[in-house]
Amino acid sequence: MNLAVDLHSHSGYAGGVGTILLEDISRTMKMKGIDVFGTGDVLLPQRYRELENLLIDAGNGLFKLSVHDTSSFLLQTEVILTVKLPSYKNKIVAHHIILFPNFDAVKECAHLMEVWKQKNTIGRPFIVSDNREEMILRLQEISSIHPEIEIIPAHIMTPDGVMGCKNMLKDIEEFYGSFLPNIHAVETGLSADPELLAQIPKIADLTFISNSDCHSSALNRVGREFTVLDVEKQSYSEIINSIRKNKVVLTAEFNPAEGRYYRTGHAGKRHNNKEEFLIPSSEKVDLSCPICSKKMTLGVYDRVHQLRDPSIIPRKRKAVHLIPLIEVIAYSLNLKSVTSYKVMKIYEEIIRHFNTEIRLWLASENNINDALENQIPTATLIAILAVKAERFEFAPPGYDGEYGKLVIK
Ligand SMILES: [Zn+2]
Ligand SMILES: [Zn+2]
Repeated sequence: MNLAVDLHSHSGYAGGVGTILLEDISRTMKMKGIDVFGTGDVLLPQRYRELENLLIDAGNGLFKLSVHDTSSFLLQTEVILTVKLPSYKNKIVAHHIILFPNFDAVKECAHLMEVWKQKNTIGRPFIVSDNREEMILRLQEISSIHPEIEIIPAHIMTPDGVMGCKNMLKDIEEFYGSFLPNIHAVETGLSADPELLAQIPKIADLTFISNSDCHSSALNRVGREFTVLDVEKQSYSEIINSIRKNKVVLTAEFNPAEGRYYRTGHAGKRHNNKEEFLIPSSEKVDLSCPICSKKMTLGVYDRVHQLRDPSIIPRKRKAVHLIPLIEVIAYSLNLKSVTSYKVMKIYEEIIRHFNTEIRLWLASENNINDALENQIPTATLIAILAVKAERFEFAPPGYDGEYGKLVIK
């Protein structure tokens, strides 16, 4: 069976986002069509207590808000690994997702964080190691808590990802060393997609998964990226098995050009909001900004060009590029607010026909046309069909922390 999973999120404890209720997330999951959602921040003591109180054990390694609720939650955190590597001046910083099969395993991992005296105030703990040997030992110690704990490099190409522009590693083995065989999957992140990652040695053979990394229960955040896995049944073990054996049916991706780190440049905020600079793509990138002369933020596009091996023949993977439906509706009607009453009414009408947003995006153009003609504004239908046919772009594309600007053609 196919299972739609979104395994990386953050709670209200992550700072600056206010309370995020699991009930709201569960409701959004149903409209989007997400079956299993990563809780986020499970190593944070307050969050751990909250989740332990609110969630009931579904008996399959997943958790629910009530017996009959169809939304399942998976215990999950992000951690920030930092380590000094001999040939690099700056410390390497790399975000990782950890998936846990039960609360006991989380408790043991939280205990390790205390033993290692790691800081954990923003929801995702730091794991600061003096050298690579110490870091590898710690990763092994976490893995040995339970054979089905999974550690996955998060948004691998963004500045805070292991292969991103802050670290400038030559390949992933430099970081993981003897732990590399335990890395089965990487998260594509919003600014990269499977097509880009499939060009990079040692990454090209891994499983690619996509997650929202959201800090919100909103319809354009939950499941904005997700993965459909082939599983025997809905369970934690089957999800891990499917990730380890690369049984990915498809990933749903942002167009990388929408992501905030796709291209190289310096945004207006660097120059008193007066001028911005976005470099045209090229294989040799001069990183000094022509406006302020400081070093620009190297985009994922150019970073992949540095790392890729043109001789790699990419394995076949299915990926679809999506834009959150409420954003498409708002765009089609020239509405600024994606959560306005009008947008939500049209969204609900579409869900009445397709049951979930995912089913809409996976339906054929004919089916969409037949179901929605005369039911929703024509401009919205045209925009949905254009997105289905991937007739959209981001101009300018995302760069230096700014999202790309959507243009539907
Ligand atoms: Zn992160
Ligand atoms: Zn500049």
